[in-house]
Amino acid sequence: MIVISVSKTYHNAQSRRRKWGKPRCKPFWVAYIVDNNEKFVRKRISALQVPFYKRKICHRRILICRDCENSFVGYVKNDTEEVECPYCG
Ligand SMILES: [Zn+2]
Repeated sequence: MIVISVSKTYHNAQSRRRKWGKPRCKPFWVAYIVDNNEKFVRKRISALQVPFYKRKICHRRILICRDCENSFVGYVKNDTEEVECPYCG
């Protein structure tokens, strides 16, 4: 599981008729995740889970292997992190 982003959001679909103070207008947290099947999913999470998901956030990068010079898409936590090349394993 790869976490792309965590953000606070509102029910935008209701924005035109939004009346503040109603429970429906409360903001909530969502995590954008790429699951094990490479599928992009938007998952609603509770405020308590936010630090947990934030720690797992990865950035999508196009990486080039130093050994075989193939480029591939990898997810890194920071720019110094090394990702294993899928071609040379
Ligand atoms: Zn390689």
